[in-house]
Amino acid sequence: MYTAAVEDYLKVVYELTREEGRATTTGIADRLGVAPASVSGMFKKLVEMRLIEHTPYQGVVLTSAGQKIALEVIRHHRLVELYLAEALGIPWDKVHAEANRLEHAISSDVADRMAAALGNPLSDPHGAPIPDKDGAIAPVASRRLSDLQPGDVGRVAEVIDEDAALLRSLASIGLFPNVTVQVLERDTGSGELMLRIGEGDHAVSSREASRIFVHEPERKN
Ligand SMILES: [Zn+2]
Repeated sequence: MYTAAVEDYLKVVYELTREEGRATTTGIADRLGVAPASVSGMFKKLVEMRLIEHTPYQGVVLTSAGQKIALEVIRHHRLVELYLAEALGIPWDKVHAEANRLEHAISSDVADRMAAALGNPLSDPHGAPIPDKDGAIAPVASRRLSDLQPGDVGRVAEVIDEDAALLRSLASIGLFPNVTVQVLERDTGSGELMLRIGEGDHAVSSREASRIFVHEPERKN
């Protein structure tokens, strides 16, 4: 068994690789709220444990053993989030912090039972795919809302769940996974987008839009 700290590092390496393209000391320090020196110390341990490979100035990548653990923690995290949201009615901006603690506490048997109780769901409340118990995970959307141009229509796939204030502001304008949004305007200076969501028009900053992934456009024949 691994400590919660080891599990957190592996999870964050996995997430940052996806979100930022790489996992660096500073990126991990920011995400975990620790000093860069602590991250360097943990990198050494994780390299010795053969869970990551570290290239100085480039960042780290997970080994296959590291990835297996990361995906198990992510499975727990996302199932806990969905369970809290669906079974207990906890809002989507509150489930992430709870899941960050509970993900380490539940056994894989409890995670499997949560999955069964929820009908073996494919994604969490923020639209992120839930790995199955063998560590298989569905491909994630890579197109960001911030890449869309005026006139484009996109269906929301996933919202990065780290920022509770962002989730509250998106909830207030009705922006959730599976909702379709249309870009009406884009400010060429700030990158702010004016979106039509349902009947309403709402502004979203470029930073917010970069935290939102949309499905690839459907092919029109
Ligand atoms: Zn989360």
